[in-house]
Amino acid sequence: MKNIILIAPPAAGKGTQAKLLCDKYNLVHISTGDLLRSALNNNDSLSLKIKEIMSSGKLVSDDIVLDLLFNKLEKLENTNGFILDGFPRNINQAKLYLDLVNKFNYDLKVIYINVPLNVLQNRILGRSFCLNCGNSYNEFIDDLKPKVDGVCDKCGTTLIKREDDNVQTFEKRYDEYIKETYPLIEFFDNINVLNEVSGEDTVSEIFSKISAIIDGCLND
Ligand code: AMP
Repeated sequence: MKNIILIAPPAAGKGTQAKLLCDKYNLVHISTGDLLRSALNNNDSLSLKIKEIMSSGKLVSDDIVLDLLFNKLEKLENTNGFILDGFPRNINQAKLYLDLVNKFNYDLKVIYINVPLNVLQNRILGRSFCLNCGNSYNEFIDDLKPKVDGVCDKCGTTLIKREDDNVQTFEKRYDEYIKETYPLIEFFDNINVLNEVSGEDTVSEIFSKISAIIDGCLND
């Protein structure tokens, strides 16, 4: 089974690329951020704790994330494979996950989308998404602007912002990324599964570059 991992700083466009890639290659999109956000609907003491951690920009504990992820992977069927978006976020998660990759013989490729900090700071403020159909937008990126300001192109619902898309939380998320997630680049490079693309181009250019890498992997 194909397994693509997308690694990128917050607001680099991982989620947008993941959705495009899933449609093209018939892969399942698994975002640990989305899994956590759905778990928040339970309204119990655990979900209140997760909510507090997420809005502080820090990482949720490895136990909770791995539990949600492994649960989701167990239920996968009838697919060419899956894309992990937002996981792993640190070396411990990567090591535990590699045990699973080896056990199930997943065909692993890691794509690192590299975007400099000044570009991210601008993008974070422009992000919005549709709560109804999940489509995401960015008013500062030409090919992601909604046709009508604040309204979803697909279903006409009013767009909203993610609670953690503000300057203060972004800075904490970015610090966590540099401290915890960035070391994964070297970790995956050392096991020869890393591919890097620049995330400063347009959505479709980045998509073409990632597709070329995956096509290489599908033809292996
Ligand atoms: P994301 O949607 O990937 O930007 O994630 C939003 C927030 O969810 C992060 O800032 C973390 O608090 C939490 N989160 C998502 N994925 C993970 C993960 N793999 N490990 C720990 N925390 C995570």
